[in-house]
Amino acid sequence: MGTTTAVVATVNHWIGGKHVATESGRVGAVHNPATGEVIAEVGFATAEEVDRAVATAKAAFAEWRATPLSRRAEVMFRFRELIAKNREKIAEILTRENGKTTADALGEVARGLENVEFACGIPNLLKGGYTEQASKGVDVYQIRQPLGVVAGITPFNFPAMVPLWMISNAIACGNAFVLKPSEKVPGASVLIAELAKEAGVPDGVLNLVQGDKVAVDRLLEHPDVKAVSFVGSTPVAKQIYETATRNGKRVQALGGAKNHMVVLPDAELAMAADAAVSAAYGAAGERCMAISVVVAVGDVADPLVAAIRERIARIKVGPGSEPGIEMGPLITREHRDRVASYLDKAASDGATVVVDGRTDGATSRDGFFLAPSLVDHVKPGTACYDHEIFGPVLSVVRVDTYVEALKLVNENPYGNGTAIFTQNGGAARQFQFDAEVGMVGVNVPIPVPVAYYSFGGWKSSLFGDLHMYGPEGVLFYTRGKVVTSRWPDPGASKVDLGFPRTRDLELENRD
Ligand code: NAD
Repeated sequence: MGTTTAVVATVNHWIGGKHVATESGRVGAVHNPATGEVIAEVGFATAEEVDRAVATAKAAFAEWRATPLSRRAEVMFRFRELIAKNREKIAEILTRENGKTTADALGEVARGLENVEFACGIPNLLKGGYTEQASKGVDVYQIRQPLGVVAGITPFNFPAMVPLWMISNAIACGNAFVLKPSEKVPGASVLIAELAKEAGVPDGVLNLVQGDKVAVDRLLEHPDVKAVSFVGSTPVAKQIYETATRNGKRVQALGGAKNHMVVLPDAELAMAADAAVSAAYGAAGERCMAISVVVAVGDVADPLVAAIRERIARIKVGPGSEPGIEMGPLITREHRDRVASYLDKAASDGATVVVDGRTDGATSRDGFFLAPSLVDHVKPGTACYDHEIFGPVLSVVRVDTYVEALKLVNENPYGNGTAIFTQNGGAARQFQFDAEVGMVGVNVPIPVPVAYYSFGGWKSSLFGDLHMYGPEGVLFYTRGKVVTSRWPDPGASKVDLGFPRTRDLELENRD
């Protein structure tokens, strides 16, 4: 275990615009994955503390939902400016608590910022529809209104971006938000909450409860929580979806992934190898959109594996804060050891371990390192293929045809992202048509949609109907209301027990 310094900072809740310490007496350790040291502790919420956060959010909601859209947009603009101004500070926390490199951390902040920018257009996004004279003197219009208190539960691998996916649209739509960040990386969300306050988000509109299952379970059953957005592993996503929907809540629960990159024989080899290496080992493979399986079609396999291997040898692994480092550590020692164990499993399952990330001394450092690893001749039905490894272990599956490659993609229980590398537009278009996956890349290995589209997988990668952020995020955080209105002359009023209709009965009878 890492060395514990005598006094470490405590990360608290953020309720009603203030830091609030837990009274649970339960804390979790926050590590610097690059050194193994405990750098902070985070106080875990009790159910009563969650109740307090929800009550505070509920009280703030009434005024916030009535706040003019122009004012809410103005606040979002200021929030955008403050995040941009503090991007380095946020990135530093990401590197310290998660281990990602400075460049990668800045990239995460930039992708989160896109979602705030999208939400700055909330007056336009919430425009409804209006039909004049739907019937004689009758107008019909549709509006979208916020839900009330909504909750978010986020994973360790994007401690700033995923909270911003949720918070931006949720509060811009007029909701009040309670976020339960990952207990492994709680720091970035606290800074984001402080910046939101500075931007003019009223106290109580954005709250944080730190903690674990105790906090999550209370959010899932609390009658005043109207919707839950979750991002994390598939088993937890499924359980959260089932529990929260049973409790009458609207839910979007995004789960894990096993993203296949199909490389056709006509692909530009160097480009495909660059893409596979970048997407497999960036963020130490701890991205839900990482490529974890390369499906090499036909005779592309040998040269592709050789090109990937050559590139792996040049990747610089080390603490993410050091200049020139391209890949940092994994999140915890236990997770690193679990990821590394797949290399033994792969060998005993008959695959070929081409590059073993344990052999360059990486795993003997104090931090939670594992160097990039490559396994060839992997087969479905083995642990290396079937499990989401979530680390820098790239599998290569060899197939003879496009049809076999597609079958692998479509039979996989996950359906988050996939990519095809080819120079044939027709083949790429066919793949886009055929793939049973929510996000598809054509010569793009990590097809995370820009903020004005929505993010979401299919199958076991998403439980719920609506994808996250973008236009579907606005739908998720609002509900529709249709108003039918008339302003008749009181003198013309009469009783009519017939079912309201828009058409003239006499005219219909004449047909
Ligand atoms: P995780 O499921 O362990 O934790 C996610 C959140 O749920 C955390 O806040 C955690 O405290 C909470 N949690 C964990 N177990 C719980 C339980 N039993 N009951 C209630 N709450 C619980 O996920 P993680 O390890 O933090 O993140 C990695 C996973 O997230 C990977 O599977 C990755 O693919 C997935 N992920 C998916 C996406 C996506 O968009 N689909 C994005 C990022 C990460």
